Amino acid sequence: MQLLEDRIRRDGIVREGGILKVDSFLNHQMDVALFAELGKEFARLYEGTQINKILTIEASGIGIACITAQQFGCPVVFAKKSKTKNIAGDVYTSKVESFTHGKVYDIIVSKDFLGPRDRVLIIDDFLANGAALTGLIALVKESGATLVGAGIAIEKAFQPGGELIRSQGVRVESLARIASMSPETGVVFCK
Ligand code: 5GP
Repeated sequence: MQLLEDRIRRDGIVREGGILKVDSFLNHQMDVALFAELGKEFARLYEGTQINKILTIEASGIGIACITAQQFGCPVVFAKKSKTKNIAGDVYTSKVESFTHGKVYDIIVSKDFLGPRDRVLIIDDFLANGAALTGLIALVKESGATLVGAGIAIEKAFQPGGELIRSQGVRVESLARIASMSPETGVVFCK
């Protein structure tokens, strides 16, 4: 998506270690007008798929998920990152290894808000190694809901997540796909 690529080129900051900072418009300060365009694009890509629930993960996926949900006229459920060891039986749980923080944590969703009648679109800000997405997909499977696909704002295509998830037959639509990046060269997008 040209608009998002242009914005990343203009305001994204490439850090050592393969980290792209997009804090000025995406995951700290949020450009809501840009989010609205991302939401419209996800709606166009997933038109006619009868999505009735959007699933994301706290915190940085929530903004994009909410604006996308307005397009589909459906609610958003966000998986909570849990620190509690003993989790009650009324939630679905899975584990996620954080790319940015290097920790493993549990994610949980209440059984009240996800179930076999749901047709789910997963939304997240980044796809890197695919750990967050893998954890969310596990929750959807556990719930008996139908996974329609995933919508990602920025895919770092030089990391294995996208290929890993697509090879499992999951539809993944990313609005900006980064082929390579470094502090010296900046960001190069996939063609
Ligand atoms: P994955 O689980 O696919 O390895 O990473 C996805 C999660 O890690 C995203 O939800 C995002 O919060 C975070 N993340 C991964 N790479 C980056 C990055 O380059 N920049 C930022 N800001 N977050 C990232």
